[in-house]
This record gives sequence, C-alpha cells and structure tokens, in this order.
Amino acid sequence: MTFGWTSVTAALHKRRMLHSLALVGMILTATPGGAGGIAAVDVADNRVTVRFDDRVDGASAFLLDGPRRIALDISGAQAGRGNVIPANNAIAAIRQGQLSGDTARVVLDLSTPATLDDARIAPDGKSLSFSIQGVSDSHFRAAIGKGRTRFDAPADMAARPQKRLHSITVPIPAAARGVTLPPVEGAHDGARPLVVIDAGHGGHDPGAINKEHGKREKDVTLAIAQAIRDQLVKSGRVRVALTRDDDRFLVLQERYGIARKLGADLFISIHADAAENADAHGATVYTLSETASDREAARLAARENKADIINGMNMGGQSGDVSSILIDLTQRESMNISANFARLLQREAAPYVPFRSAYHRFASLMVLKAPDTPSVLFETGYISNAEDAAFLSSRQGQQKIAQGVARAIEVHFARKLAMRGDTSGG
Ligand code: ZN
Repeated sequence: MTFGWTSVTAALHKRRMLHSLALVGMILTATPGGAGGIAAVDVADNRVTVRFDDRVDGASAFLLDGPRRIALDISGAQAGRGNVIPANNAIAAIRQGQLSGDTARVVLDLSTPATLDDARIAPDGKSLSFSIQGVSDSHFRAAIGKGRTRFDAPADMAARPQKRLHSITVPIPAAARGVTLPPVEGAHDGARPLVVIDAGHGGHDPGAINKEHGKREKDVTLAIAQAIRDQLVKSGRVRVALTRDDDRFLVLQERYGIARKLGADLFISIHADAAENADAHGATVYTLSETASDREAARLAARENKADIINGMNMGGQSGDVSSILIDLTQRESMNISANFARLLQREAAPYVPFRSAYHRFASLMVLKAPDTPSVLFETGYISNAEDAAFLSSRQGQQKIAQGVARAIEVHFARKLAMRGDTSGG
C-alpha cells in the first residue's frame, strides 16, 4: 500500500489543523506530569506507529461508522498540540485529542473500510503500532459489532523489528502547561473513582436570589458542595475535587474542563432553582439532552447557560460548537450513565431531601456537555421557596443533602465495580 500527499490532503490538513488547535487549546491547557505525550505518528506502508515521549499504560481500539473511523484510546498518554494527516490508501487523516486527564484518543479517518490488526505496545511502553487491513463493507460492520479490543504492553515480548518502506514522521510539540487544577481529596488510592463537585455560579454571578431572605444561590451551592466533599472525604471510598472552593467565577467550560482534565468518573453540578411561583419546591436532577423534556426544563437551561453571558459578554468565548471529534463517539454512553445516576440520586437521596414528583428532567445544559464524563445538574431545591431556602442554607439541610448525594455516589461506583467483573471488553 502506498500513500502520498496531495493538494486535497494538504488543504484538509490545514483546515483540520486549525480546527484541532482550537479544540486542543481549550482542552489541553494543563498536562498532569508523568504521562507519555504523543510525540509523533509514523505511517510506514500499511503499518502505523504512534510514538510517545514516555511510557504509556495500555490502549484499546474500536471502529465507528458514518463516517468510518478507527478510534484508539491510549491510557497514560497526553495528546500533543497538533494533528497529523499522513494519508495512505485507507487512511484519509489521523487526528488526536485528550479524552480525559490521562487518556489520549487518536482517530483514523478511513477512506475505505479497514480494520486494525496486529496491534501491540512496545515492551518499553513508548510506542504503539498496528497494521491497517483493508476489508469488505460487511466485514467492517461485523467488526464494529465486536466492540472494543484492548491491548496492553507485553512484559516479556521483545519488539519485532518493523519493515519500513515509505515512512514519514510528523513531530508534534508537547502540550502547554497552564491552569492550576484543584486539589483531589479523599481516598489516597489513585485507582479509586474521582468525583468532581461543581458549586454553581460564584464571583460576580450570584445565580438566583431570594429577595425576601437575601439568600443567594452561589453561597448555597458552595456550602452544599463543600458539605458533599466533606462527607465523601469522611467515608474515604472515592476521591473528590471541587471546581471552586471559594467565591469565584468560572465559565461553564472551565467547570467541566476541570472534570475532564482530572479524568473524573462523575461530575455533579450543584444548583438551587427559582420560580415565580413561591410555592414551587423540591429537588430536580437534570441530565443532558439536545431537546428539553418540557418548557420548564428549557427555561432552566436558558437561565443556567446564561452564566457565561454576564454583562452582555460571552465569557465562555466558545459557542456550543464543542462538538468535535471526541464528542460524537462517547457522548451517548455518558448520557446513559448520567440518566442512570439521576434515578439513583433520587432513590438514595429522597430520604434526606424532598424531591419533586417529576424529579428527572432533560435539558441542553452547557455545563453537562463534557462528552466523556457522566454528568448531572442537581437543582437541590427552590431558593424562591421560603421552606426550601431555609433548608438549603442551614447547616443541617446541607449535611442531609451531602449524605444523600454521597450514598448515591457510593452505590453508583459499587455497581460499576460489580459490572467490571465481566471483562468482555466492552
Ligand atoms: Zn443555578
């Protein structure tokens, strides 16, 4: 199989490069130390080699249709700040992005149906290579059905020398360092699941205000987030981080960006609702959907998404167009897990927190748009309702909410752990 650069490829390269830099620039402002950054991608004949500047832990691959792609998730790896478009007969482009704190994703856009074959990580853990095998359409579809294949570095297998016919190496500059991430507390075992609790609003954005009692949503959400954090630290079963631990403003993308950079397993954004009708009361859990479940959910999304547009300025600086390579692949799975957690949250927290009868709603909430982190927005009650406002701003109420949320979190991860017993590789 041969490959070559064409003007079409070059144009595609440029376009994708610009696009990818925008995306990568947003996601990759911080790099946790110790991970193997993607240094280069070599294409030699039909063999692809991804090189890292440090050891990676393992990888998995799966196929996608419409358009046809091969996706590789490499754990213990950091995506570089650029994209590579070495084309051969089967590969139209190769792209990369950061899927979570320590997992990089490399996507191969296929021009013809092909599967990945003979994938292996070198014994030194610093490269991953595989061959691309052209297959029929029906074979490709069948391969999709097989789901994810995992491959780890073989401890005792010597690297076989590779025959390199035509090859190019594209150097990729290392990811920049920036943004300070919040401390991770709780269980010291790094293998324990990580929950990121996000106290809604903050700084110059007070959120909803109860004029009668002078209660502000941003204070209530911070106190509840801190109470949940303390409860989780006390039980020691999971790791926990807060997006903010004081009265500061964060744009919505920064909130879920922190969760992604830390590689969070669950993201919970804490809010308090407000309504014209002072009788409205009780908690609601929202999960992501492009279409709101009802008018009230649509109104809530409009209000919560407005947090980025303070004083007429879009602080987020980024439209809803975060929907890039990473999103379509994983979002559906995350949305299902989020919906399951929403139901679990109600079940476990109901003894402590009054819920509304229609407690689970769907809305297009920007803060829930991390494609790979199961996320819910928990409206803990109505700050516009006298009884709810008193409950939400009392130490006792905050502790009750924390207890309920912590229980749900623990059951959620216990279930996940139980399911991991079956290693069919999905
Ligand atoms: Zn809010």
